[in-house]
Amino acid sequence: MAVLEIRDLHVKVETDEGTTPILNGVNLTVRTGETHAIMGPNGSGKSTLASTIAGHPKYDVTSGTITLDGEDVLAMSVDERARAGLFLAMQYPVEIPGVTVTNFLRTAKTAIDGEAPAIRTWTKEVKAGMKNLRMDDRFAQRNVNEGFSGGEKKRHEILQLELLKPKLAILDETDSGLDVDALKIVSEGVNRAKENTGLGVLLITHYTRILRYIRPDHVHVMVKGQIAEEGGPELAERLENEGYDRFLAPGDPIE
Ligand code: ADP
Ligand code: MG
Ligand code: MG
Repeated sequence: MAVLEIRDLHVKVETDEGTTPILNGVNLTVRTGETHAIMGPNGSGKSTLASTIAGHPKYDVTSGTITLDGEDVLAMSVDERARAGLFLAMQYPVEIPGVTVTNFLRTAKTAIDGEAPAIRTWTKEVKAGMKNLRMDDRFAQRNVNEGFSGGEKKRHEILQLELLKPKLAILDETDSGLDVDALKIVSEGVNRAKENTGLGVLLITHYTRILRYIRPDHVHVMVKGQIAEEGGPELAERLENEGYDRFLAPGDPIE
């Protein structure tokens, strides 16, 4: 059992014009075994929350805390966050020339576990994981993210999730750019990780579509850098029908 606690989090972002406050007191608790959806209009601060948990240097925490089982996440390096059991999908979005998927996965696994995985079981696990995600065997020999399609990037992300076995995963817009078939495959991967390892999920999404496949226990609506409303799965259904209009003042800019 692990618990990620975000308390009264205030975050500013550095821009050319100075610093702008983006998160204005966010409170959230996610435990292993739970699935939380963070929804909200574009520009409300959802990705800023994800990037802050991930330790992105652009985002400046001015007050508040993030802890994992009481340990100060904000004091951890990005690597330490991963070793502590956090999976941050945006952590590996970059192309890594000359590093194949196979080598990347084994290096990541070794870094997280503190020892190299036993070759034979590991190779089996990778193969099985790829098969589950309907990835071609040849994918393993490609360089990470080099020329990956949107769907391949997402499936590679979920492959990491299934192999690295984190306690809690933060998935930002995992549904974006996926057709229905790819969305189903990706969602099944997340659901397998939930079943097999009791993974806790913080699923960030503007749209309700992915929530048909990954059922949230709790739904939070972020508006202007704060959680404006919370509820169960029925809140997502309401947002699907009504959109975010009632959270926005007339004339509010929409990004
Ligand atoms: P969401 O993910 O909900 O669409 P974001 O967290 O991406 O929202 O953005 C929230 C606000 O912060 C937006 O106004 C956005 O322009 C601004 N913002 C976020 N990141 C940066 C950044 N790196 N530089 C400048 N502005 C940023
Ligand atoms: Mg956005
Ligand atoms: Mg975003």
